[in-house]
Amino acid sequence: MIDFNVPTYVGKEKEYISKAIDNKKICGDGEFTKKCHKWLNEKTNSNVLLTTSCSHALDMSAILSDIKSGDEVIMPSFTFVSTADAFVLRGAKVVFVDIRPDTMNINEKLIEEAITEKTRAIVPVHYAGVACEMDTIMEIAKKHHLLVIEDAAQGVMSEYKGKPLGTMGDYGCYSFHETKNYSMGEGGALLVKDKDNFERAEIIREKGTDRSRFFRGQVDKYTWVDAGSSYLPSDINAAYLYAQLEKAEDINEKRLHLWDLYYESLQDVKNIELPYIPKECKHNAHMFYIKTKNMEERTRLIKYLKENDILTVFHYIPLHSSPAGKKYGRFNGEDKYTTKESERLLRLPMYYGLKDKEVLEVCDKIKKFYK
Ligand SMILES: *Cc1c(COP(=O)(O)O)cnc(C)c1O
Repeated sequence: MIDFNVPTYVGKEKEYISKAIDNKKICGDGEFTKKCHKWLNEKTNSNVLLTTSCSHALDMSAILSDIKSGDEVIMPSFTFVSTADAFVLRGAKVVFVDIRPDTMNINEKLIEEAITEKTRAIVPVHYAGVACEMDTIMEIAKKHHLLVIEDAAQGVMSEYKGKPLGTMGDYGCYSFHETKNYSMGEGGALLVKDKDNFERAEIIREKGTDRSRFFRGQVDKYTWVDAGSSYLPSDINAAYLYAQLEKAEDINEKRLHLWDLYYESLQDVKNIELPYIPKECKHNAHMFYIKTKNMEERTRLIKYLKENDILTVFHYIPLHSSPAGKKYGRFNGEDKYTTKESERLLRLPMYYGLKDKEVLEVCDKIKKFYK
């Protein structure tokens, strides 16, 4: 049986979790959270806070952006529900824009025509860890005075023109869910560009208190200063993650190797399309997907692979066609590619522990299917 996903495990996780327990400080912002912060700070050269999930990092960015009832937020419909939830929870209307068929990212050329006087923010989603056309998006945002919140859930270790994903917009959101490249079970991180907003982010994450300033000795008691919630993860989870961040280069190299192996092995299968990586982008092999002719062919291929003990999955049901998407959003312009391309996309097994021979077997079975 070849699983679709197996959570990354590098070996030191148990030792670090034991250490967190021995520290007798298993709540948030302990030794391992600090170590993760330091690693992420150095890697992204940005202000970073570990959070309980990427969904919560997105929630925090919506609060920090002061998104209010009646505001509009632009994003692709081909994304995970959390991208939209964060803004809908603040009362905003979601405006969906079509994707580019080559990267499955928001089509930057269609953003401007979706802007109204109510638009407050653009939320690019870096699908599969491959960057959106960020120069164009940042230019549009600047011209129309809009905020940019990057959903970089899948983009840890990826770059656009040498810049880490999540560091170009006003806010960036990472996921450390067990299905992502680096994991802590459930978890994420918020990246904040502006230093002043970062102080407010610390407060929102600590139930609206200035406790972080208190711990740094900047105030002699802490108090309730703003609306907030509890968005900091346990140090036990952070300990698990730190073991993986230490090995981030190894994990990244291994995944890229598997990705390249898929790409080479499937190159001559005429019936399918393979992913495209623009030259501006350094990706992180978060996923390997193929595109079949249509949904009917995809269904048959999934079934064939399953009969051969290979598990593959597809996603997302475009948000604009879901019940909540219809209620809280609208699709601007024509759905030329979102639905059509999402119905063709199939994700192949991809994880740190996957073996070369397993990749080759998956490719072999795909070739047999098309023979
Ligand atoms: C995984 C994912 C999320 C949510 O991440 P969680 O950490 O599970 O909350 C959000 N957006 C995208 C694009 C994702 O892939």
